Amino acid sequence: MNSADIQKKDSQYIANTYKRFPVSLVEGKGATAYDAEGREYVDFTSGIGVNALGYADTGWTKAVADQAGRLQHVSNLYSTMPDVEVAEKLCEYTGFSKVFFGNSGAEANEGALKIARKYGIEKHGEKCNTVITLKNSFHGRTITTLSATGQDVFHQFFFPFTEGFKFVEAGNIDELHDAIDDTVCGIMLELIQGEGGVVPVDQAFVTEVARICEEKDLVFVVDEIQTGISRTGTFLCYEQFGVEPDVVSLAKGLGGGLPIGAVMMNQKTEDVLGFGQHGSTFGGNPVSCAGAKYVLDQVMKPEFLEEVNKKAAYMKEKLEAIPQIEFTTGLGLMMGAELQNGLVAGEVAGKCAQEGLLVLTAKTRLRFLPPLTITYDEIDRGMEILERVLKG
Ligand SMILES: *Cc1c(COP(=O)(O)O)cnc(C)c1O
Repeated sequence: MNSADIQKKDSQYIANTYKRFPVSLVEGKGATAYDAEGREYVDFTSGIGVNALGYADTGWTKAVADQAGRLQHVSNLYSTMPDVEVAEKLCEYTGFSKVFFGNSGAEANEGALKIARKYGIEKHGEKCNTVITLKNSFHGRTITTLSATGQDVFHQFFFPFTEGFKFVEAGNIDELHDAIDDTVCGIMLELIQGEGGVVPVDQAFVTEVARICEEKDLVFVVDEIQTGISRTGTFLCYEQFGVEPDVVSLAKGLGGGLPIGAVMMNQKTEDVLGFGQHGSTFGGNPVSCAGAKYVLDQVMKPEFLEEVNKKAAYMKEKLEAIPQIEFTTGLGLMMGAELQNGLVAGEVAGKCAQEGLLVLTAKTRLRFLPPLTITYDEIDRGMEILERVLKG
C-alpha cells in the first residue's frame, strides 16, 4: 500500500476520532521515521512522549522480541519475572514501595483516584471522596479521568460525568485553601501541564499542595504520565520540585513504545487497594514489561540524564534563536514554543509534516517531545526545517 491507499482505508475503516496529518509511517530508526514512499521525517514527537529510546532501538527490540518468543502473557493469577523486575527498579530508584500495572495513562490515573478515594473514605469518613485537580489539566479520556480534567471542553457529550472533583487554578494558593474542606481526600496534578500548553506549575504552589496534603492527611497524587521517565531531565519531574507525592502515575515513555501504565504507591498508600479491589487483564504484560525494563535500565543512568539535559539546553537555545518564536516553556526534552502573533500552531505543524518534520502542538503552542536519544544531527536537521517553515 502507498500512503494514499493507507489514508483512504484509514478514513474508511478507522473511527473518526483523530484528525490526522496526511502522513503514513511504515518504519523508523532513532528519531527518524519513513513513510510508505521512503520519505524521511525527523521526529520531535516520539509518538507523544512514548518512544523514549526512539524507533527500533536495538537493545529494546531484542529485549521485547526475546520476551515475546518466551512468554507473551499470563493472567494475573500467576507471577512473572518482567513485571517484578520493573516494579523493583521503580521502587529502588524512587523510594516508592509498591506498583500496580495497567495499560495506559488514563488507567493509571483511574487507579490513583481509586486509591485517593478509598484512603479518604477509610481514614476520614464516607463523605471524604473529593479530589482537587487543576484548571487546564489533562488526565485522560475515560469518563472519570475526563471528569478529573479541568477543562470545560472535555466535559461534553458523555453525561453524566463522575462526581467528586473540584478544580483550582494552578498557582492560586488562596483558591486552593478555599477548596479544602472535609470532603477532600486528595489533590492530583501535573507538574508541567502537557496538553494544557507545556505550562509549568509554580513551585510555591506545589510546595503548598504537598504541605496541605501532609497536614490534612490527604493523598498527594502527581500525574507523571508525560513528565516522567527522564523526559524533564530527572527520572521523575517531582524530584525537581522537592516534594514527595503519595501516589505517582506513569505511562507514555515507560514501555518505550509498548502499552503500559503504572501507579506507584508509598508506605502511606501501598495497602489501600486490597484483594479483588483493582485489576487488569493485560496489566503487567511480560512483553510490555520487558520493554519497560530495558527503557529503565537506560534512562535511569546518570550519564543518560546528563545527555538529556545537554540536548535539551542545545535545543532550547536553537528554538529561542528563531525570530518567530517568542519564548519557550518546559523542562528537559518537554518543550513548548510560543509563536509570534499571527502564526497558528496547527498550521505550522502541518507545514512541518509536509517538509519532513514531525512536531506536536498544545493549545496555542508548538510542543516538542523528541526521543530522549535524539542525536545532535537529528536536532539540527529538524531545526533547519522548522526555521524554514516559520520563515514562511
Ligand atoms: C497522555 C496523558 C494521559 C493519558 O494517557 P493515555 O495513555 O492516553 O490514557 C494522562 N495524563 C497526562 C498528563 C498525559 O499526558
